[in-house]
Amino acid sequence: MTERTLSIIKPDATRRNLTGAINSKIEQSGLRIIAQKRIQLTDDQAGRFYDVHKERPFYGELVAFMTSGPVVVQVLEGDNAVKKYRDIMGDTNPANAAPGTIRAEYAENIGANSVHGSDSADNAEREIDFFFSDIELVG
Ligand code: UDP
Ligand code: MG
Repeated sequence: MTERTLSIIKPDATRRNLTGAINSKIEQSGLRIIAQKRIQLTDDQAGRFYDVHKERPFYGELVAFMTSGPVVVQVLEGDNAVKKYRDIMGDTNPANAAPGTIRAEYAENIGANSVHGSDSADNAEREIDFFFSDIELVG
């Protein structure tokens, strides 16, 4: 089933010039990057995007990190895109991420872990709309 997911290349990765290396891993997996933009998130945007984590102890740190430099937000399309991207991202904590995954290779720690990926089809739709409601996506 062809679906779409929302990816974010996080500030730790853009800072180290890893956008191309991460995009290469995405494309090698068979997923297609059908939209992307490099932007500076505002406190308000990052806070709203991660609203589900508001009550978690790391929320403040997460919002501060996500606004610490530019991010690349992107829409990925492909067969089972949500799960496929979660698989190639690897575990949230890079210490537990399988070899060859993006986080195993590039993440600095559990917070600065290089990428975000939607965790369900419903959240993917919501997250894609959050960043890309202004353009028509071409798959
Ligand atoms: N995070 C953190 N400390 C934690 C857990 C998560 O800083 O103990 C950050 C990390 O950047 C993670 C994000 O919060 O990617 C969202 O957490 P989630 O549990 O949704 O992990 P993900 O879906 O990104 O793997
Ligand atoms: Mg998550």
